[in-house]
Amino acid sequence: MRYRAEEHRKRTKVTKLASNFEEKLLWLQAIQKEFRKQLAAVKAALPLPRTSRIRNLALEVDASGLLLVKTRVAASNVTTETKGPPVVDGHHPYVRLYVQAVHEQLVHAGVKATTNEVRQRLWVLRMRPTIRTVIKNCLRCRIRRATPGEPPTGNLPAARLAHHQRPFSYVGLDYFGPYNVAIGRQDQKRYVALFTFLTTRAERFTWRWRVDSVLTAPY
Ligand SMILES: [Zn+2]
Repeated sequence: MRYRAEEHRKRTKVTKLASNFEEKLLWLQAIQKEFRKQLAAVKAALPLPRTSRIRNLALEVDASGLLLVKTRVAASNVTTETKGPPVVDGHHPYVRLYVQAVHEQLVHAGVKATTNEVRQRLWVLRMRPTIRTVIKNCLRCRIRRATPGEPPTGNLPAARLAHHQRPFSYVGLDYFGPYNVAIGRQDQKRYVALFTFLTTRAERFTWRWRVDSVLTAPY
């Protein structure tokens, strides 16, 4: 119950962030500070430097001064963000916090689901490695993925190590039944005694008439 309340609180927080235009604008402008030169170049319709990481993207600048990626889905019935997502760097701590929030909003979803959700709002450079890193470091996911360590195994008992002795010197015994066995025209009950030689794990089984007849079972 506490887990759900926590999820709800975080979900509300993300929705609020996404719905408040001014907050979101400030947030995106802070992230896009590193693209100042590219922004100026795109505004002036100049080519981007060859070393720029966003040189191969089709870019435009919107009315609020954000650097957006031009997609080819302008005619579709999707949100404005999806039609022209702002470019952000996956290394930026704000972006990582946002990815973490989306991941938690989706109740700790995997890489694919989180990527799909983030891609509808942002164009993250090195998106998959970023999302993978965030999920890898998510504390709740790490706890969920953790497996208990193997306990150290103890020494074998002497009966398991009785080499150079007569076969079936030490045995384990499984006794089960009854089974209905057809003998002639009759149905009769039989029990099964399964002997396992503890040293070599060789097995021998025998049919018995009654529960207490295992003591007389021949080898
Ligand atoms: Zn998680």
